[in-house]
Amino acid sequence: MAEKKIVILAGDGIGPEITAEAVRVLDAVASVSGVKFVYDPRDIGGCAIDKFGEPLTEATVAACKAADGVLLGAVGGPKWDNQPADKRPEKGLLGIRAAMGLYANLRPAVIYPELASASPLKSEVLSKGVDVMVVRELIGGIYFGPRGTTEDGAAYDTEIYSETEVRRIAKVAFDLAMKRRKKVTSVDKANVLVSSRLWRKVVTEVAQDYPEVTLGHLYVDNASMQLVRDPSQFDILLCPNMFGDILSDEASQITGSIGMLPSSSVGEGKAGLFEPIHGSAPDIAGKDIANPIATILAAAMMLDNMDMTNEAELVRKAVGDVIAAGYRTFDMGEGNRVGCKSMGELIARRVLAAN
Ligand code: NAD
Repeated sequence: MAEKKIVILAGDGIGPEITAEAVRVLDAVASVSGVKFVYDPRDIGGCAIDKFGEPLTEATVAACKAADGVLLGAVGGPKWDNQPADKRPEKGLLGIRAAMGLYANLRPAVIYPELASASPLKSEVLSKGVDVMVVRELIGGIYFGPRGTTEDGAAYDTEIYSETEVRRIAKVAFDLAMKRRKKVTSVDKANVLVSSRLWRKVVTEVAQDYPEVTLGHLYVDNASMQLVRDPSQFDILLCPNMFGDILSDEASQITGSIGMLPSSSVGEGKAGLFEPIHGSAPDIAGKDIANPIATILAAAMMLDNMDMTNEAELVRKAVGDVIAAGYRTFDMGEGNRVGCKSMGELIARRVLAAN
């Protein structure tokens, strides 16, 4: 029987509740697929500070690097807000992304027809459907370039991209496009920025290896407008770090629901990091009311990354079926109200039923 090793970084706040439901769904996947998941629970963030005095230990980093996938809940909370900067929970998150060399951040934004009323966009704009994947470069560009202040009090940040950095993120986008609707829209500001002109040149070169994929280019200002004017026109939005940071938040708002959106970060090693886009929601922790769907969909992205695409689809279909059947956690609006655990059970049951 094939075995996959998965590190579970539940973290703080609602982290343990939502990851438990994702594990419940993975267990259901295991029993219908014949793959065995071996879980390795580790601490990250505030709980790691409490136990080890630091948000991320070397042993946890080593375990993540050796795994087939890493599933993360969320980190942080008021208890650790006054920690010194290098001992804050989010240092653990940044640390694990850097240690695993995760240079690509993938954020899907999908509209479920039954939840369309939660979107700030009009129904006629959403009628053609929304299924956008933002592929964001994560460890280069202006967030990592030289920065500082000058003697006369000015301040500067620097956008630097090498060809290698652009090529590897472009490949992630095109490979993904081949599994989706074969359309990449690359976002830049090539009319102003020299670094964007390099970005556009290298992305165009990479596209030549993918003749089936249609490539378009948009300036970031136009892209942000088009995203709310007609999101159905996009399949993959390929973005440098800062533009991707902004556009992925814009795309997530189109769906109107923070508890539903997963994210994955992949890079040099075989293992990626899979997590919900929301935080640790300390205001609702321990009440069994958090929405576990973002984390369950993050687990589905992990299955994709482990070449278990049929199983990933099974999970996504189970989520869609449960939503279509009217079940809602409190953040999802009116419907058949369920808690975190019941939502996980409903989804797991549908996965099992598909056998
Ligand atoms: P948050 O995302 O935790 O919560 C924002 C709001 O959304 C809250 O009202 C919360 O109850 C609600 N919410 C979030 N997830 C939900 C879910 N699954 N189901 C239902 N409702 C949900 O953001 P915040 O309040 O700004 O931050 C809380 C803590 O989380 C802070 O310590 C912050 O640093 C941390 N944080 C962590 C991450 C991460 O681990 N990736 C990301 C963002 C924030």
